[in-house]
Amino acid sequence: MYLDYNASAPLCAEAAAAMEPWLSGSVSNPSSAHRSGQRARAAVEGARAQVASLLGCEPVAVVFTSGGTEADNTAVFGAMGWPPQGHLVISAIEHPAVLEPAVALHELGLEVTRVGVNAEGRVDPEAVREALRPNTRLVSVMAANNEVGALQPIVEIAALVQEAGALFHTDAVQAAPWVDLKPLVAASDLLSLSSHKLAGPLGMGALYVRPGIDLVPLMRGGGQQGGRRGGTEATASMLGFGAACARALRERDQAAARVAKLRDRLETSIVDSVDGVRCNGARAARLPNTCHVCFKRCDGNALVARLDLEGIATSAGSACASGVAHASPVLEAIGVPREYLPGALRLSLGYESGAADVDRALEVIPGAVRGMRDAGLEAVF
Ligand code: PLP
Repeated sequence: MYLDYNASAPLCAEAAAAMEPWLSGSVSNPSSAHRSGQRARAAVEGARAQVASLLGCEPVAVVFTSGGTEADNTAVFGAMGWPPQGHLVISAIEHPAVLEPAVALHELGLEVTRVGVNAEGRVDPEAVREALRPNTRLVSVMAANNEVGALQPIVEIAALVQEAGALFHTDAVQAAPWVDLKPLVAASDLLSLSSHKLAGPLGMGALYVRPGIDLVPLMRGGGQQGGRRGGTEATASMLGFGAACARALRERDQAAARVAKLRDRLETSIVDSVDGVRCNGARAARLPNTCHVCFKRCDGNALVARLDLEGIATSAGSACASGVAHASPVLEAIGVPREYLPGALRLSLGYESGAADVDRALEVIPGAVRGMRDAGLEAVF
C-alpha cells in the first residue's frame, strides 16, 4: 500500500506505453540529420508540446531537464548570472534543490534573504515586498510545499516581484499533479516541474522559461534545446513525461476532488483516535493529497519502519543525515512545538489511491503509535 506519492508517483500506464517503443531497437539521436533522427526529433517535440499543454504555454518555452533538481538549479544559477551577482530572495521552506544553490551563492559572497512563513506554512506577499532591494535579481517561492502541502499566493507574489524589476521563479514540482498551473505560468518568469511526481519516469523534468528571458545555461554542451540545455535529448523519458502530463491534464481535477475527501477522512480519523497529535498546515490552503501529522512521544522514523513492516509505505518528513536525525527545517519554520518535531508522519495520496488504502492505514496507524509509546520508542531532536 503506497501512501508516499509526494516522494514519487509510480510510473503510470500511459507513460510506460509512450516510452516502450523508444527503449529498444534502433533509436537515434534526435539531433541526427537522417530519417531515424528526424523521427526521434518529431517525437521529442511532440512530448514538449504535451508538457506545454499542461503549462498553457508555447512549446518553445519548455526546456527539458534531468528532473526538478536541475530545473531549480538552472533557474537559480541561471537567473543570478555568470559570474553570479545581485541579491536573491527565497522562502524559508524551499526544497533543497533551491536552498542549496542559494547557500552556494551566499558562500560566494552574494546577499541572500530568506522570507519566513506563518504557522500554516504560508509566505506573506508583504514580507516578500519588504525583502526586495534595488539589486534583487531573483525571487524563488515554491508553489506547494512537499512536506506539509501548503500552497503559496504565487500570482500575488509574482506580480509585486516583477513590478520591482526582478525575476520570479516558482518550484511547481509538487503542485503540478493537483493544481491548474496555467495561472502560475502566466504570472511567473520561471517554473520547475519534475516528471516522477506526475507519474512519469524518474530523472526527467522541465523548466518553463518565459520567452525573452536570457538565462545562463547550467549545462553547456552541444547546443541542444536552443543552447539552453546541452545534452543529447533522452527521447524515451521525454515521451513518458509528455504522456504523464497529458494524463494529468485529463484526470487532475476529478482526482483532486476525490482524493481531498479521502485525505480529510484519513486525517480526521487519525486525530480522533490518537491523543497528542497535531496536523500541520491543516487550516491553510494546501494540496488535496497531503496529510502531515506530528505525534508527541513518538519517533517518526521508527514509525515509518513499523508501517513498512505492515506493508504501508509512508514518509517521516524529517531528514536523516549521517545517521543523526534532525528536525525538518520546514516544521521548524512553521513553528511546530519542540515536543512534536520527532514524531512527524507524511501520508500522501495519488490518483490511484482509494477508500481501501485509507481503511487499511486507519486500521494500522493508531495502534502503531500507541504501541511505540507503550514501548517507550521516543526520539529527541
Ligand atoms: N522540488 C520539490 C518541491 C520536490 O518535492 C522535489 C522532489 O522531492 C524536487 C524539487 C526535486 O525533483 P527531482 O526529484 O525530480 O530532482
